[in-house]
Amino acid sequence: MRTRFAPSPTGFLHIGHALAAKEAFDFAQAKGGQCLLRIEDTDHTRCKEAFTKSLYADLDWLGFDWPLPVRVQSQYYPDYAKPVSELIDRGLVYPCELTRKDIKEGKRPHPGNMKDIDASALKAQLLKSSHQDCPTLPVAIRLNLPKALQTIGPLSFEDIGPIHKGVHDAREFFDQNDLDPVIARKDIGCSYMIAGPHDDWKQEISYVVRGADLFHETPLQVLIQALMGWPTPIYYHHGLMMNEAGEKLSKRNLDTALQSLREAGQTPEDIWDMTRAYSI
Ligand code: GLU
Repeated sequence: MRTRFAPSPTGFLHIGHALAAKEAFDFAQAKGGQCLLRIEDTDHTRCKEAFTKSLYADLDWLGFDWPLPVRVQSQYYPDYAKPVSELIDRGLVYPCELTRKDIKEGKRPHPGNMKDIDASALKAQLLKSSHQDCPTLPVAIRLNLPKALQTIGPLSFEDIGPIHKGVHDAREFFDQNDLDPVIARKDIGCSYMIAGPHDDWKQEISYVVRGADLFHETPLQVLIQALMGWPTPIYYHHGLMMNEAGEKLSKRNLDTALQSLREAGQTPEDIWDMTRAYSI
């Protein structure tokens, strides 16, 4: 079996990441499998090289060992352009010019005619991307959710984690008020929603072990897998670390950055004690 730990280097790793890494690496070890490290840095507006560097140092300090080479998503934009381009060909997506502000003000994205914007020009733009150089698009591309859901058959996934244990029908998580999701951003020509499932397929990930805060993303990822013919892994969403106020720890809680804890003299064992004390 194979799982992965897939952090996004948008800040320094904090203690919640230490727990997530441990869950994934321990899971693989218990099953005699492998845990890959994957750097999810397609969002160049938020990810920084310095965070990636310190991420390796933190994981190393904690004692993790991962197979090489590590897949760094920002080096694989052409891979992500392919499924986006295929979805254009299949008429399951549409261009959308609405800004975040438009949507906040109540405007709703809706399928236009892909031909209006010249699908072939869009595809050419996408396929022009090179490694380390992301494509940019004149507009964002959204998945036509109702149409996509009509296209595929049963859509179930299994979670074997402590919080969402069971077999779920992904369709039950969609609702007609859902906004059609962006699958290719203007500035990167892809999105986290395409890159993650693509890599789980490409890297033959059989179990996705990750925090329960990501459970809500699963139905859409399962839909994308079904559309693309990528197998759906088994999911294990683990519990999260909470602070004393019962809030999820986040990168904003700077005091929990692994780098600061290390500099303050804490040992990896202290970190594991903390994860045990605060996990739910
Ligand atoms: N890169 C994502 C994050 O750091 C995790 C993605 C995943 O595990 O599927 O939130």
